[in-house]
Amino acid sequence: MSKRVVCRNCKIFFEEGGSCPVCKRNSFATSWQGRIQFINAEKSVIAQKMGVEKDGEYAIKIR
Ligand SMILES: [Zn+2]
Repeated sequence: MSKRVVCRNCKIFFEEGGSCPVCKRNSFATSWQGRIQFINAEKSVIAQKMGVEKDGEYAIKIR
């Protein structure tokens, strides 16, 4: 399994060596404090607060 990293822009997880599935950048963080999974991002208040539009797994606090 390859290592997972977090997009600094969107905070979504993706595999190291790839680019973010949302913003297509490859500026990432390798350290975070928590994670959250969104299955219905467009209906979730927490997702809206975080600026999340796409379902997936996101990091809470990146460093
Ligand atoms: Zn991104």
